Amino acid sequence: MAVLKGNCYLCGKEFGKTAMKNHILKEHSEGSGQECRLLKIEGAYDKNYWLYVDIPITSNLSTLDGFLRKIWLECCGHLSEFNMNYQTIGMTNKIGNFDTGNVLLHEYDFGSTTETLITVMGTVYRKQQKGVRLLARNVPMAFACCECGAPAKFISLGHCDNEDPFYCEKCAGKNEEIYEMALPITNSPRMGVCGYSGELDTFTFIPRSK
Ligand SMILES: [Zn+2]
Ligand SMILES: [Zn+2]
Ligand SMILES: [Zn+2]
Repeated sequence: MAVLKGNCYLCGKEFGKTAMKNHILKEHSEGSGQECRLLKIEGAYDKNYWLYVDIPITSNLSTLDGFLRKIWLECCGHLSEFNMNYQTIGMTNKIGNFDTGNVLLHEYDFGSTTETLITVMGTVYRKQQKGVRLLARNVPMAFACCECGAPAKFISLGHCDNEDPFYCEKCAGKNEEIYEMALPITNSPRMGVCGYSGELDTFTFIPRSK
């Protein structure tokens, strides 16, 4: 698979994951203002899903949890938790308690768990604003229908032996078992799990006209 690039949500440029970090630190950190931590967020088992965000040091982990639910995770209100070095970290911990290099693991849903890795990349400053700001996100992956090769619209685990369970509308509609289990293709490590059907807010990248 080709290296998955992402979009900078502040200026629209496209970079790989590491180059994006350098780009944000170089181009988008104000000299002063509201102190934030820059976080890299990745799917623990598929790092092609990645985000960069900044979040004020005065925010709680619960704010970050709420953001992760909105952009990647929420299906039916499952429990979630943060861990660091195998210890649970309470939701009231402030972001400022974590330093560059710290890695947190976030778990959503203790049944069909989706695990997210959060790495503190450094300190950045921005104009005063509330909560988590999305800075960059991977370009959505494209999936081909496993039966006809057309762009897929659904993932369906109706046939568990299929390693590539992606279907276009037409092929999904031909098989009741597949159709009933079909969930939309989403840009999230929770795609296809439980009833996950997409983000709760609009975080899709919209290119600016040049
Ligand atoms: Zn940029
Ligand atoms: Zn669920
Ligand atoms: Zn098809």
